[in-house]
Amino acid sequence: MNAREVSLNRANELKKANEKFLDFKKKIKHQELLDDLHYEKKKQMLLAFFKATEKDWENHKWQMHNRIMDVDTLQNFVSLTSKEIDDIRALNQTNRFAISPYYLALIGEETDDPIKMQSIPNSGEFITDYGKDDPMAEEFTNPAGSITRRYPDRLIINVTNVCAMYCRHCQRRRLIGENDEHTPLKIINESIDYIKNNEEIRDVLVTGGDAFLLSNKQIEHILKSLRAIPHVEIIRFGTRTPVTLPMRITDELVSILKKYHPVYVNTHFNHPKEISKISIKHLSKLIDAGINVGNQAVLLKGINDNKFLMTYMNQKLLMARVRPYYIFHAKKVKGTSHFIPKISDGLEIMSFMRGHTSGMAIPTYIFNAPGGLGKIPLLPSYIISHENDTYQIKTWEGNIITYKE
Ligand code: SF4
Repeated sequence: MNAREVSLNRANELKKANEKFLDFKKKIKHQELLDDLHYEKKKQMLLAFFKATEKDWENHKWQMHNRIMDVDTLQNFVSLTSKEIDDIRALNQTNRFAISPYYLALIGEETDDPIKMQSIPNSGEFITDYGKDDPMAEEFTNPAGSITRRYPDRLIINVTNVCAMYCRHCQRRRLIGENDEHTPLKIINESIDYIKNNEEIRDVLVTGGDAFLLSNKQIEHILKSLRAIPHVEIIRFGTRTPVTLPMRITDELVSILKKYHPVYVNTHFNHPKEISKISIKHLSKLIDAGINVGNQAVLLKGINDNKFLMTYMNQKLLMARVRPYYIFHAKKVKGTSHFIPKISDGLEIMSFMRGHTSGMAIPTYIFNAPGGLGKIPLLPSYIISHENDTYQIKTWEGNIITYKE
């Protein structure tokens, strides 16, 4: 065989290797067209219910003011069995739910709809003899104000407990409490003073809750104060608004953020259904202003623990100019046992992605050490054995090669 014939044979093998994934993509893209229609229908139902307008829908304050927080309202828009209704009512007493009308309109008809599973209380939450309220021991990594510090050069400031939708898998479920509360200004200022007095801190993540649920004025106060500290190099925001309340990304917010570059945003898409047209439109405002957006997904059983789905989601994120950054292995948080996947499932997804999509679409798979001991990257084993200067290494297709240094 000449070189061209060898190349054609290899190209054919590679084409075959992606056939199943391509079939999956075709099906999901078809489903997305149906989802768009469904979203429009649900949106109109919600607008009629609240006697609101299209303009209201685009207003994040209207969305927050009209979050759905009780089961009687919820059942007008989502099909629920009588057992589900009783369970939601009971669970809402201890871990309240709240869903923006926008995010609610994304919920499909299936009982295991991924948007429904992330936002509506589920009987799995009754299992409380599993996990801890605070598996990361955040309480013991708080040297001042509302800081969480786990690393030498960076830290978190927690600025609120408010979110547009309270994710049922949230690692900070314990902080959602009974009321929406922003961290008092005095505590935020104490956190900023701590940063000022510790010159090794060069990277600050402002999060919560959802950092973009502070007012523009509060956000600007934090940005201005941090930028006045010479050793702070980068400022990051943790927000799920691109997913649950994209209309929060207004021109005014973007014009504030871009005054304090370098500013980065980390968000939290878990399923391709969440990357809606509206979400993409609002993400573009951030990205056009030079604000890089990274995605931190959580691997959740029954939602995204599927190699095709995770690969597709990361490709779709890249199309929206969002960089897949992390996939977190879900933490053992009390009341979330029904979401916890196996590490072997995560490794299988990582192994599939390495072979079947571009490196830019591959986030790092992270296991968070319990007790706040930090992030540990998990990778499939590619080095099979090693003796002196000779390595047995596995390729993405499972072929073993020998490499001598
Ligand atoms: S948006 Fe983040 S902080 Fe808020 S409930 Fe979801 S996971 Fe928790």
